[in-house]
Amino acid sequence: MDADVIVVGGGGAGLAAAASAAELGASVLLLEAERELGGSTQLSAGLFTAAGTSVQAGLGIEDSAERFFQHYMDLNQWMLNPGLIRTFCEQAGPTLEWLIGLGVEIPAAVSHHAHMPGLCQAGVEDVWRGHVPKDQGLGLVQVLAKACRASGVEVVLGTRVQRLLEEDGRVVGVVADDLEVRAGAVVVASGGFAHDPGLLERYYPAAGRAGDALFVVAAPGSRGDHLRFGEQVGAAVTGAEWGLLMPTAYFQRLHHWQSGFPPRSRVHVNGHGRRFMDEDASYAVSGGIIDAQPGPVWAVFDERARLGLPAGYAHWTPQVVRAEAEAGRTARAGSLDELAALIGVPADALAATVARWNEQLPRGRDDDFLRHRTLAAKGSDGPPDPIAEPPFYAVRTLPAELVCTHAGLEINPSAEVLDARGAVVPGLYAAGEAGAGVLGPRYVGGGNAVANALTMGRIAGRNAGLPTPSQF
Ligand SMILES: Cc1cc2nc3c(=O)[nH]c(=O)nc-3n(C[C@H](O)[C@H](O)[C@H](O)COP(=O)(O)OP(=O)(O)OC[C@H]3O[C@@H](n4cnc5c(N)ncnc54)[C@H](O)[C@@H]3O)c2cc1C
Repeated sequence: MDADVIVVGGGGAGLAAAASAAELGASVLLLEAERELGGSTQLSAGLFTAAGTSVQAGLGIEDSAERFFQHYMDLNQWMLNPGLIRTFCEQAGPTLEWLIGLGVEIPAAVSHHAHMPGLCQAGVEDVWRGHVPKDQGLGLVQVLAKACRASGVEVVLGTRVQRLLEEDGRVVGVVADDLEVRAGAVVVASGGFAHDPGLLERYYPAAGRAGDALFVVAAPGSRGDHLRFGEQVGAAVTGAEWGLLMPTAYFQRLHHWQSGFPPRSRVHVNGHGRRFMDEDASYAVSGGIIDAQPGPVWAVFDERARLGLPAGYAHWTPQVVRAEAEAGRTARAGSLDELAALIGVPADALAATVARWNEQLPRGRDDDFLRHRTLAAKGSDGPPDPIAEPPFYAVRTLPAELVCTHAGLEINPSAEVLDARGAVVPGLYAAGEAGAGVLGPRYVGGGNAVANALTMGRIAGRNAGLPTPSQF
């Protein structure tokens, strides 16, 4: 054997697996296809969902894995395997503490968004569970990479694993650079498949429904190799049809922290010209709400809102909105009646929607959709302005920013890969986007995917590094 454990992929799941296996004394070889470690984890805000943590306790918040489990299962309509989700919810907190022990910094402070270290509202949970680390995903990767170095993990960059090595029904290694490398166990942590159009069509067709507006922010290594490895050994695939498409304006092409944010003073209207949601609702639910609407959805705002857009972003700027309007791709009109005609909604409904909004939120409350509560959680100062100053704008808004995919190799609570009969594929583990079953139909909020990658990665690494797997 060349190593006790081979880890395929050096993003969050792979690094957590490698560090955990090495902590147990296993010899670990980590192969990473790209020229640097990190994958999508490095691009992320590092937001991590967990319950019952020291950070929550530092803010006086009482929480438990049991409560997290109930919320997780309810939000996902119990369409996930409760045993797996229970393990995930129980281990996410200890994994966060392990990261803190390794050097990740998360202050016990209120955070209002994914770029402010501390604790924020992750989704639609009743207690806050979004842990934002200092230095975001990059910080997590750096701390884990340091732990790997310290425990003797051998890291090889620029080496894309081509296939698994199988003997007598057991996975015994991998082939990379046309060389066979043998190990006692293999952990597949190669991320998702957001950059493979064929796999998207097969396993996440919702992405295709975004049409030309679709753009992918996942790391370039997200090529779906896990699904090819799985085919080789008859692994079961689960999580098809699910992923995270964040709502975005049709003209955005970068993750929202680079593209920028739509004006606070806006309403989302559907094909009936009616408002139907809290415009700042978490992406745990907002994509689904938008998808459920009759007709296209539009963000409607006025000239004052356009001019108030802050500088420094790539797409949501006063100049880009004006240019889009001049090109005829963003609707712009001197009155709400004309705007309604341009976007094909009833004029009286649009006028009533805007009038209702103007008499509510700009005066401090949104009794229809409770947006004042979301704005408060985001630390917003003061109510938004009325929508009253022509010209008026309507920007097509839809779930089209592809962040991560959920279809992968089905795993059990020990992160062992299962075959089509539900039996363990000996010697094979998977975690992160590659190991499926934790990320469900509803993303539970910011931090769901990083928590999945690091928690299940740690479980995979510990079990792969042990002579006999357990759920520890
Ligand atoms: C811009 C952005 C922001 C995000 N923000 C958050 C957030 O704040 N919180 C959250 O929970 N989620 C967030 N996500 C999602 C989350 O980051 C990912 O789902 C998660 O980090 C995936 O971890 P992973 O280890 O499974 O995959 P990755 O981190 O992508 O790592 C997989 C690695 O495997 C490598 N690889 C692929 N194929 C092979 C092969 N054949 N051989 C060797 N190596 C291979 C890849 O190059 C890559 O480095 C964000 C995603 C993006 C893109």
